[in-house]
Amino acid sequence: MSRKFIIIIFCSFFLTSWAFSAFAYTPFLSDEQIRIIKENIDHKDWAKKAYRALLREADKWAKHPIDIPNEYGGWSHDYVCPKHGVSLVFDETSPHSHRCSTDNQLYTGDKLDAAWRFYMHFRYSRAVKNLAIAYALTKESHYASAGRTILLRYAELWPQYKNPRTKKGRGHLFWQVLDEGQWAPDIAWGYNLLHSTFSVSDQQTIEKNLLTPLYNIIQEEQMQKIHNHRAWENAGSALLGFAMDKPPWFKPAIDGPLGFREQVVNGILDDGLWFEGSTGYHFFALEALATLMEVAPNFGYDLAGAPKLKAMFDAPLALSLPSGELPALNDSTLGKTLSYPDLYELAYSWYGDPLFSQHLQNIYRNKDRNSLRSLLYGKPELVKQTTLSPIPSVNFTSSGVAVLRRNNAYLLLKYGPHGGGHGHFDKLNFILAEGSVWLSPDLGTSKYGLPIYEGWFKQTLSHNTILVDQKRQKEASGQLSVFNPNAPIPCMKASVDNAYPGVNLERSLYLGDSYLVIYDRINSSQIHTYDWVYHNYGHLTHHLPLKPLSKSLGKGNGYEYLESLMHAVTKDLWQLTWQYHQYNVRLTMLGAPDTEVITAQGPGMPISERLPMVIARRKAAKTEYITVLEWYQEQPVLKSVRLVDNALQLIFPDKTTTIPLSEKN
Ligand SMILES: [Zn+2]
Ligand SMILES: [Zn+2]
Repeated sequence: MSRKFIIIIFCSFFLTSWAFSAFAYTPFLSDEQIRIIKENIDHKDWAKKAYRALLREADKWAKHPIDIPNEYGGWSHDYVCPKHGVSLVFDETSPHSHRCSTDNQLYTGDKLDAAWRFYMHFRYSRAVKNLAIAYALTKESHYASAGRTILLRYAELWPQYKNPRTKKGRGHLFWQVLDEGQWAPDIAWGYNLLHSTFSVSDQQTIEKNLLTPLYNIIQEEQMQKIHNHRAWENAGSALLGFAMDKPPWFKPAIDGPLGFREQVVNGILDDGLWFEGSTGYHFFALEALATLMEVAPNFGYDLAGAPKLKAMFDAPLALSLPSGELPALNDSTLGKTLSYPDLYELAYSWYGDPLFSQHLQNIYRNKDRNSLRSLLYGKPELVKQTTLSPIPSVNFTSSGVAVLRRNNAYLLLKYGPHGGGHGHFDKLNFILAEGSVWLSPDLGTSKYGLPIYEGWFKQTLSHNTILVDQKRQKEASGQLSVFNPNAPIPCMKASVDNAYPGVNLERSLYLGDSYLVIYDRINSSQIHTYDWVYHNYGHLTHHLPLKPLSKSLGKGNGYEYLESLMHAVTKDLWQLTWQYHQYNVRLTMLGAPDTEVITAQGPGMPISERLPMVIARRKAAKTEYITVLEWYQEQPVLKSVRLVDNALQLIFPDKTTTIPLSEKN
C-alpha cells in the first residue's frame, strides 16, 4: 500500500505543542466511513448514544493519570478465587489487594499482582484505541495528546519489561505472547489514527521502540499451528503492518503459512464451529479473525467473503438455548450467553442476514445499542423479522455435537472429536435443559490456574457418560449413526470404541415429551468395572436403602472430589429424584444383577457449589443400562417402565409408548 503524502501547510498561529508530520498512513477509518458514522450520529438515536459512550470513555482517559505498570502482565487465569473458582474483581485502584465477588474476601500475592497488571495493560491499550477514534471523529487535540502520552510511555518502558517465562510462546510485556497478539491491535488502531498529529521524532520513537519490538516478539514466539493463539498473533502482526502501511508485516499474517487464510480453512470446521470444540474458544478465535477482517478492506482485502466465515456466526445461533445461553462445551465458561453485539454488528454489516439483525434486536431488548462496533459499522436500521421460527434440531457433524429439540426440551450429545488442548474427555456425554434452565449442564471449566481444572472439569467423571475401571477416557472420537429429529420420538445414537481400548460404548437417546430414554450398550471381551454417571442440579432424594460408603472411591480421575458418598446394591429397578426450582427430575433405571448405586456430591460451578450425582456401577464384560429421565412440575406422569421382547414400554395413564431397542435404532 502506498503512502499518501499529504502536505500540510500551517503557520505559527496554529502551532500546538506537537508538530504535524509530513505524511499519513492509510487510515483504519476512511473519510467515507467517517462521513457515514457522522450521518448516523446526526440522524439516529442509537448512534448518538454510541457516540456519547465513546466520548465519555475518551473524556475519562483524557483526564486520567497515566500510570502504566513498569512490570510485565501475568496470566489472566491466575486471577481467580481459590475457594469459589470465579474471577476476582478487577479494580484499577487496587494493584495489591484483590477481591472475590462471592464473599468479598481479599487475596494478595505476586501472582495476583502480575495478573492484575495483565488487565491494567489492556486498560491502556483499549484507552489508546478509544482516544484515537474519538479524535478521528472530533479532531479535538486533547484526545490525541492523551493517546500520544500512553504510546510514548510504553515506548519508554518497553526495554524494562522482564518476563520470567522461558519456554516457547513467551511474551515480553505479557506472560505469553498470545496476549501481545491481543494487545497489539488496539495499539495499532491508536497509532494509525493519531500518528499524523505527532512530531516526526515522536513517530520514530513509537515505531522504533514500541511497534517494531512488539511485532518482533510476536514473530519470534508465535504459535506454529492452527490455533486461537495464532489467530490473535496474526491479527496483531497484520494490524501493526496496516498501521504503518508495511506489506512485509501484514501480507504474511494474511496469506503466509499459518496466516489468516490458513487458520480459516483449517481452524473452522465444515459445520461452522471452531475446531477446539469450545463455545468459549469459538468466539475467542472469531474475535481474532474479525479484528483483522474489519480493517482489511481499507488495505484491499475482502476477507469476510471467505468460505466458512459466515457459518462461524450462524453456528452458535443454532447451538444455543432459547435464552441465548450457550452450552459450556470443553473449556468454556458456564452461563455465557450468545450476546456478542460487537461481533454480530459486524456480521450484519458484512452479510446482511436478517437472522443476525434479529439476534441483535434480541440483545438490544436488555441493553442499549451503543457498542463501539455499532457506531463504526452499524447499519442505520435493524431489519425486523416478522415471523420467528423455532430453532431447529441440528447435528454439527464435524464438531461431533448433536442437538435435539422438542417443545421446550434441549438435549445435546457430544460424540467427538476431542478438540485439542481445550478438549474434555467426555465422549457420549449428554446435557439437558428445559426451556432455558439447565437440569443437567456441562459445567465447562474453572480458570486454568486452579488444580480442579485438570482434576475435575476436564475429567470424564464430571460429565454424564460412562467410565471404565475408574479411568478417564482417552482422547477419542465417536460416530453418530442415527440422528432423527423428525421421528415420532426424536432420537440419536452414537458409539465410541477408542475411549477405552477393547471396550465399545454405544448410546441411544430418545427425547419424548418431557422425558428422555437413555439406552447404553457396553461391549468388551474382558470383565471391567463400568461406572454409568449422571449429574443434576437440585436436592437429591431416593427410594433405596442407601448406606454411607465407608471408604472413598479412590484418588485420581476426579473421584477424589466426591463427597457424601452413599451406596446400595440392587438387582431391581430403582429410582432417584432431584428437586430443582419448579422442576423434579426422576431417574428410573431398569434392574440388572449386582448394580451398585452410589450417590455423591461433586463440585459445581462456582466450585463451592455441590451438584448431586449418581453412579451406577457394574462389573461385567457386556452390559446394558436402560434409563428413563422424566421431568415434571407437580406429579410424574409415567406410571411404569418395563422391557418386553427387547422393546421398552413406557406406561402412561392414557397410553403406552413402545421403543424398540434393537440394532436398527
Ligand atoms: Zn471467592
Ligand atoms: Zn466438559
